[in-house]
Amino acid sequence: MRLTRYFLPVLKETPAEAQIVSHRLMLRAGMIRQQAAGIYSWLPLGYRVLRNIERIVHEEQQRAGHIPLLMPTLQPAELWRESGRYDDYGQEMLRIRDRHGRDLIYGPTNEEMITDIFRAHVTSYRDLPLTLYHIQWKFRDEIRPRFGVMRGREFLMKDGYNFDLTREDALHAYNRHMVSYLRTYERMGLTAIPMRAASGPIGGDDTHEFLVLAQTGESQVFYDDRVAGLKLGRREIDYDDRDAVAAICAEFTSLYARTDETHDEAAFAAQVPEAHRRVGRGIEVGQIFYFGTKYSEPMGALVTTPEGDRRPVHMGSHGIGVSRLVGALIEAHHDDRGIIWPESVAPFTVGIVNLKQGDAAADAACEGLYRGLTGRGIEVLYDDRDERAGAKFATMDLIGLPWRVTVGPRGLAAGKVEITSRRTGESEEMSPEAAVDRLAGLLAGI
Ligand code: ATP
Ligand code: MG
Repeated sequence: MRLTRYFLPVLKETPAEAQIVSHRLMLRAGMIRQQAAGIYSWLPLGYRVLRNIERIVHEEQQRAGHIPLLMPTLQPAELWRESGRYDDYGQEMLRIRDRHGRDLIYGPTNEEMITDIFRAHVTSYRDLPLTLYHIQWKFRDEIRPRFGVMRGREFLMKDGYNFDLTREDALHAYNRHMVSYLRTYERMGLTAIPMRAASGPIGGDDTHEFLVLAQTGESQVFYDDRVAGLKLGRREIDYDDRDAVAAICAEFTSLYARTDETHDEAAFAAQVPEAHRRVGRGIEVGQIFYFGTKYSEPMGALVTTPEGDRRPVHMGSHGIGVSRLVGALIEAHHDDRGIIWPESVAPFTVGIVNLKQGDAAADAACEGLYRGLTGRGIEVLYDDRDERAGAKFATMDLIGLPWRVTVGPRGLAAGKVEITSRRTGESEEMSPEAAVDRLAGLLAGI
């Protein structure tokens, strides 16, 4: 993409309404525009990041054997009356009446609708296990939307639902989700710690939240600091191997890690040596629930068992805050000049800065680099504006592309361009051809 043809409305001023760094940087970098309290347009740069996060979520869900579909944002109130939640959910639920006087709601979550789909089409244990998920906009009329996309009213969520014959099978689905979530966050360059949580309006006995440690987080967290160092890394995972999946869950949940809702001071003191005890703040980027037959029973989602009787299925639901993750990623990856995107989610991977637009040699070298890099499948933003070098560097630093290639007449006279890492600030000079090879090599593994 050439910047002169792109739409990147960066702001020079720091917006006064933004209280936390991710909100400020998203506004300054031209990623979002607020349309109403807690409701945002995703401008092109922000939209690219959102799509990258979605792609990773889809890949990891499907790797775990979960099946994508798409349900609507509007739902008939009828389904919610069946489960009893139409009245229970309270004021966060946006209720709408259509021209025929029928009650609708803008979905805050989809347990009822997915249970309705299930009961219409599945009648036998032979069709289990089944996990369906979608990535769809949700609406919750939050009393205090704030911190930009972190607590919006309209927000993008991945929500998945498992259907199993027995509690034991459903607990395997729960564990599978935990592991697939750990992989998902890790691929984005985030450490999200599973913490035992209280259940809230979705209900259920077993539930974990995934928290990214950050001072600006809304949850208070209590944990053993060794839990923050755990990594899945590149290990092979067989999602059908119950014991192996359960063992990974045990590894990531045996150290103390809880939110204020479930924190137990005595257990904290007994289980965690003082040197490892930490109290901090975290951003909730996901939550998994096992809730048994809470919806299948009132809604009549039954299957025949191998013995021939009919039983309500065991279910769970599992959510990832896709749009909130954009903010959480920035909270975790920035400096005083701007965002520092991990390569896997960056809106573009490489930025080309032409120090002297209009100089024949510099223009030609930039064009060559642009073609060479895009030809290797790398997403490039070429700053081809007629601007001072300082302004171009400031824009690149603000929008946080992982790599910058700087091209100027002086370097070119010696046959060189410069590659700079946004993260480390380290630079290296080499020929334009070598720069293409180097970047393609560095990015091949992502
Ligand atoms: P919170 O406690 O932050 O209000 P929640 O526990 O009500 O969230 P869940 O029902 O668990 O939310 O939804 C799954 C995920 O969706 C959450 O872990 C969070 O990442 C995201 N999410 C929930 N509410 C919002 C919101 N208002 N804006 C952005 N993301 C949200
Ligand atoms: Mg939650």
